Amino acid sequence: MAHDFDLFVIGAGSAGVRAARVAANHGAKVAIAEEYRVGGTCVIRGCVPKKLFVYASEFAHEMHAIAPGFGWTIEGARFDWATLRDNVAAEVDRLSGIYARNLRNAGVEQILQRATLAGNGVVRLANGETVSSARILIATGATPWLPEDLPGVEHCITSNEIFHLAELPKRILIAGGGYIAVEFAFILKGLGVDVTLLYRGDTVLRGFDDDVRTQVHGELKRKGVRVITQSVFDAIEKIDGGLVATLTGGRKVEVDQIMLAVGRIAHTEGLGCEEAGVERAANKSIKVDAFSRTTAPGVWAVGDVTDRLNLTPVAIREGQAFALTEFAGTPTAFDHADVATAVFTQPPVGTVGLSEADARARYGAVDIYKTTFRPMRYVMPNDETRMLMKLVVRASDDVVVGCHIVGPDAGEIIQAVGIAVKAKLTKAQFDATCAVHPTVAEELVTLKDKWVPDARN
Ligand SMILES: Cc1cc2nc3c(=O)[nH]c(=O)nc-3n(C[C@H](O)[C@H](O)[C@H](O)COP(=O)(O)OP(=O)(O)OC[C@H]3O[C@@H](n4cnc5c(N)ncnc54)[C@H](O)[C@@H]3O)c2cc1C
Repeated sequence: MAHDFDLFVIGAGSAGVRAARVAANHGAKVAIAEEYRVGGTCVIRGCVPKKLFVYASEFAHEMHAIAPGFGWTIEGARFDWATLRDNVAAEVDRLSGIYARNLRNAGVEQILQRATLAGNGVVRLANGETVSSARILIATGATPWLPEDLPGVEHCITSNEIFHLAELPKRILIAGGGYIAVEFAFILKGLGVDVTLLYRGDTVLRGFDDDVRTQVHGELKRKGVRVITQSVFDAIEKIDGGLVATLTGGRKVEVDQIMLAVGRIAHTEGLGCEEAGVERAANKSIKVDAFSRTTAPGVWAVGDVTDRLNLTPVAIREGQAFALTEFAGTPTAFDHADVATAVFTQPPVGTVGLSEADARARYGAVDIYKTTFRPMRYVMPNDETRMLMKLVVRASDDVVVGCHIVGPDAGEIIQAVGIAVKAKLTKAQFDATCAVHPTVAEELVTLKDKWVPDARN
């Protein structure tokens, strides 16, 4: 049967755009549908605008806590939310335009409307038309999850709205302990907002190494974020001039805005998965094999919608692997092990490989090398920002199986350490590498003593 397209991609985010371009570059006739804006979460309302907000936020600490120690007097500093918001929006527009242009240059047809699966290689467009394709790629990403049964949930915003607020709130309550909640707690605090972070666990950043979690929790408090743990909302009520959140146990918190960052859910609602025979997991993500094949012949899925490792570079690699496999004759499965990642807290986190707890569970005996210290930059200003460096080493063969950093430039440093961990280098090879001086990163190759737990603890 002749199809309209060789490949139809649903969703023009990181994963879909990469897959579409690579397939088209290998001669395929490709269309991509997008219901919101070309670029997807990362470009439009994720990594990129968030990182720009982080830069804006960091100036506060630099100007008020660090610069004076180096002799600078900064008077009359003032932050204007509208300038930041509008400049970021303009940058997002520019990047979205580049994504659209790259698709055009590759010969990919862009269909700017919602698309759903109709089964048997057919895609239904929002305008009622249908098109057929030899292969269909689902790359619809994920969206913020909302507790629909929470009374007053309609008064809350999510990370989708935070980038467009008409005014910066004076007081905000952020619910969640994952990286998005924690990053925005630091961002907004730096911009001068009174921030309360509400989390149902006892320490933020579940899944990260325990030392990282403790350090970030401490930094939140040191920066003046009010952290309320082991608590959730009972209800949210709108009052004159704000919102009142009632927490478990009856405690009430009055704020101007509440942001929910309590998880994300695969964007598969109403996508036609059942009709097309595409099986989903209990959490609504699409089940795939190592080559991103779904349970329906001719249908693949990549990126956050598959809930494997929800990061932009991973989505891009999954999209690329699919396109190389199907259109370049090079079977490629992306290896999800040892993906380095950063959390843009202030200071940031960089992490790769296994946490100490996971390494102990998997390998039994592990050696820990770790240090905390005050980087040179913070000593003269007498600022308490500290650096954590931690290496997790498999005792049986000396291979470094994890590295966890909290401190200035951790996100940049971890990219290079990620190569070493992915290459399964040993602690002896780290030690054989000469230091770069004076840097904070040099500690990674000068950690000599195994860490021994304090016998008194
Ligand atoms: C606030 C925030 C901060 C983040 N920060 C980072 C970070 O610092 N580093 C990092 O690596 N990752 C970060 N992420 C995660 C990252 O953004 C995602 O992992 C990545 O965007 C996933 O790409 P994707 O292509 O799978 O999905 P998406 O980028 O979400 O793209 C999916 C696209 O599909 C479209 N779509 C959905 N359904 C349909 C349909 N039926 N028809 C047509 N179009 C449809 C959507 O509109 C969207 O444009 C962040 C996410 C958020 C929310």
